[in-house]
Amino acid sequence: MANKGITRRDQDYSQWYLDIIERAELAENSSVRGCMVIKPYGYAIWELIQKELDKRIKESGHKNAYFPIFIPKSFFSKEASHVKGFAKECAIVTHYRLKESEDGKGVVVDEGSKLEEELIVRPTSETIIYDTFSRWVSSWRDLPLKINQWANIVRWERRTRPFLRTAEFLWQEGHTVYPTDEESKKEVAEMLKMYHDFAREYLAMETLSGKKSESEKFAGAVDTYGIEAMMQDGKALQFGTSHDLGQNFAKAFEIMFTDKDGQKKYPYQNSWGVSTRMMGAIVMTHSDDNGLVLPPTIAPVKAVIIPIFNENDKEKVLQYCEEIKESLEDIEGVEIDDREYVSAGFKFNEWEKKGVPVRIEVGPRDMQSNQAVLVRRDTGEKENVGIEKIEDVVEKMLKEIQESLLKKSEELLVSKTHRVGSYDEFKDVLSTDKGFILAHWCGNSECEEQIKSETKATTRCLTQEGADSSGKCIICGKDTSEEWVFSVSY
Ligand SMILES: [Zn+2]
Repeated sequence: MANKGITRRDQDYSQWYLDIIERAELAENSSVRGCMVIKPYGYAIWELIQKELDKRIKESGHKNAYFPIFIPKSFFSKEASHVKGFAKECAIVTHYRLKESEDGKGVVVDEGSKLEEELIVRPTSETIIYDTFSRWVSSWRDLPLKINQWANIVRWERRTRPFLRTAEFLWQEGHTVYPTDEESKKEVAEMLKMYHDFAREYLAMETLSGKKSESEKFAGAVDTYGIEAMMQDGKALQFGTSHDLGQNFAKAFEIMFTDKDGQKKYPYQNSWGVSTRMMGAIVMTHSDDNGLVLPPTIAPVKAVIIPIFNENDKEKVLQYCEEIKESLEDIEGVEIDDREYVSAGFKFNEWEKKGVPVRIEVGPRDMQSNQAVLVRRDTGEKENVGIEKIEDVVEKMLKEIQESLLKKSEELLVSKTHRVGSYDEFKDVLSTDKGFILAHWCGNSECEEQIKSETKATTRCLTQEGADSSGKCIICGKDTSEEWVFSVSY
């Protein structure tokens, strides 16, 4: 039974996603093309994600700071491949003043206010931050430098979709400087693992992670590593990256330090980030035809108490609901929906669409028998629970939902991972189940490009296991020791 107003997944997966974004009140389109408004309920989820991630980032020794949204154009051309990667999706500030139009009916750009050097609205902050770092770093004593920024980012995307691809989005970006390559590379791997663990432990999402190919790596990086999640429709979604920048930016921005041996040296750097794209991944990983499904950890409302009453017993039922809420005071995010202008049925439906993990239904009969009806959002299972046990049962239920969602995500990833031995098999999988396809690839960009142009599938990453797997490239037949993860992706 599908929820009214939400397209079924098997009918139109893409519309199903948009319906959930709208009906769960996560976000909506704005008057600015490609830019979304994140609504209070969606933002509350983001805040819970942000809070936990911020804690983990700080625990790993990084400090938060904030850098300008504008970047001088010249900064972009300092690192040659970096500018190429972002040139086609920049918002550029050229003037700084408006004036009244001659017909008096509005305002126009004052041509006299043209900037000497245009400013780019940050599509990522390596350049502006490393210009700053060049003044912060002069000695080995200044290292390692470990900084994180929470910010908004602008990339002028032509085709947009809420959370998955928007012209403006929110993210965190870590930027660090190390005296040695070894230490920097170690952190690249650690941050990738941090994202992987965060996805599992907090978002109940299993992911694959590994190195990106040359064509898929970050513009300006030596190597990029990514976290890839599998969506229910068989498409992959990259939602976090960790970049080994080597000395590329240090050289471009003249970051130098005097080492213990008295020599002036270029340090090694890395950067890493996750964005509001994660919100899209969460929606598509856990939700069903009835609406959003949220892991309890990131549910702003973990349990909602819905009183069922008429005029005569209203006071008593509400009083009883208050008692239940009090018994749940140790659980953050318990609410009573006491609105009188909508029916209980309407409320069930609304909270179901919003993915609240546990619904507690309380009617006059429940009150008489000192109990309540608990309903699990992920399975729909109902349970009558005596009021004295309600706290234990809700806590247990939240824990079970969290574990069960992770298990489902693990199972989806396993069931949607296919190992193939030939290009024909590769194409067969794509025309049926899609998912992650494990295939040997020689590393040559021509073979990769052929696969991409003929099937739309791209290399997603080279996992640790894949890096040590001998076989023959499915395109050219050359011997290789690398089995890559391919997929059609968001
Ligand atoms: Zn090949």
